[in-house]
Amino acid sequence: MTGMDSSTARLKIVIAGGGTAGWMAAAALSGTLGAAIDLTLIESDAIGTIGVGESTIPPIVLFNRLMGINEAAFMRATQATFKLGIQFENWKHVGESYFHSFGTTGKDHWSAGFQHFWLHGLTCGHSRSYDDYCLELKAAHEGKFAHLPDDRMNYAYQLDSSLYAAFLRERAEGDGTRRIEGRIAAVELDGASGNIAALMLDGERRIEGDLFIDCTGFRALLIEGALHAGFDDWTHYLPCDSAIAVQTASVAPPVPYTRAIAHDAGWQWRIPLQHRQGNGIVYCSRYLAKDDALDRLLGSIEGDVLTEPNFIGYRTGARRKQWYRNCVAVGLSGGFMEPLESTSIHLIQRAVLRLIRMLPSGPVSERDIAEFNDQQFADMEQIRDFLILHYKVTERRDSPFWRQCAAMPIPASLEQKIELFRETGRVFRRNEELFVENSWVQVMMGQGIMPQRYHPIAAKLRPDELEAFLSMLRDGVERTVASLPAHGAYIARYCAVG
Ligand code: FAD
Repeated sequence: MTGMDSSTARLKIVIAGGGTAGWMAAAALSGTLGAAIDLTLIESDAIGTIGVGESTIPPIVLFNRLMGINEAAFMRATQATFKLGIQFENWKHVGESYFHSFGTTGKDHWSAGFQHFWLHGLTCGHSRSYDDYCLELKAAHEGKFAHLPDDRMNYAYQLDSSLYAAFLRERAEGDGTRRIEGRIAAVELDGASGNIAALMLDGERRIEGDLFIDCTGFRALLIEGALHAGFDDWTHYLPCDSAIAVQTASVAPPVPYTRAIAHDAGWQWRIPLQHRQGNGIVYCSRYLAKDDALDRLLGSIEGDVLTEPNFIGYRTGARRKQWYRNCVAVGLSGGFMEPLESTSIHLIQRAVLRLIRMLPSGPVSERDIAEFNDQQFADMEQIRDFLILHYKVTERRDSPFWRQCAAMPIPASLEQKIELFRETGRVFRRNEELFVENSWVQVMMGQGIMPQRYHPIAAKLRPDELEAFLSMLRDGVERTVASLPAHGAYIARYCAVG
């Protein structure tokens, strides 16, 4: 490896880009390693950031805790609200909705998930919805939230990601990150090794490093522009390629969930923050023109529009090598899948924490690189499959877009999961997959798959035992939800005193 600081032998890490990815990487690296590394972040105010990315999933709570972040201070700084899941509207049919909550539904037996008991209940005349057994889901529907003992309420945040980046910047700079403002004009490669030797900035500045983290967003200046790591295109599975975002004034107290509302060529999001609402439309440009997409977005949102529309074109897929030579791609430079399940910021978190675990103390080990790439790519493929599920399993055939989705071939791994569930009601989580069994069950049933059979252990319960079991679970959920405060009021109190 080149360029080790010989006087202190500290690893010189250079982060290129200061969006959410750059500052999450900087805060985590400097917060964890402090003076043990020499950390520089380069960003260009003139180029700016992508300016979207507001909805998250529960592991971000852990990320913030690992960083020692005070939650109330973080929520004040980022205008965050709590998020208990996503409401999917018009996905199975126009006019129908379902909820993917972050909670656990009912109670599993080690041999069979709760869905088997609920399905058995249906055959015994029980008619209550599967949703009635999930605390987070019921709380979301009633617009309620509170922290419960033992983290019994599983949640994430809806936040302003620019404010989150600014919040993390303050911490990272406090922990020793050096920030350089400037445009990266060129990437200098070491002729012998092919590694990146330095970044050349406008004004002739030259920034050397041992390890470079590419957080330059869709530009992928280092990993692709200089190193040509390659890109796997997944557009044939996830055909949307365009988005438009606008922010509006809030017209109602924030709900503790994100809305994903399907339309005939994609979907729209609504993400309530404390001070405003984030709105956007995701669409497939083959079936919807840009101007029509904008009209549709502006025609359907409520509240005064606060920002100019932000038009974003993208290609769904993943960088073939997330870590290549002495460069690691983090954030949009590593790939992008649409924000349907709010997974991009999570992938940043995974990459950063993984990198910290595999941080070299001398020459970079090719084994570390191979391990990192395998793990990161597996994360992305598993998320990809979960997203495809939403498009593939639908009863919608009302537009060319939905007919294309219904007819498209899907990965064999996803087909196995869907058909296994359809036939037996079973779902298995493999290899630390992000989405747990209950997420798959909620989305598969929500999209319209009703299993043909269930595990025989469910039928072991006599009807009176089943009745007692189900009503005990339902009562527990109802009692807890009744005791919760309104989400907006809780945030106001929590942020005022925390
Ligand atoms: P950017 O924000 O683009 O940052 C790139 C940085 O690199 C900037 O600082 C820029 O100035 C710098 N840079 C670029 N070129 C140069 C140069 N030549 N010299 C110097 N600096 C340079 N994620 C979620 O988790 N939840 C969501 O709800 C969500 N919604 C999304 C909606 C849409 C439509 C899109 C497209 C994405 C969404 N994402 C979401 C993804 C999320 O926005 C990103 O993962 C996140 O913002 C991180 O972006 P980034 O830091 O990689 O890139």
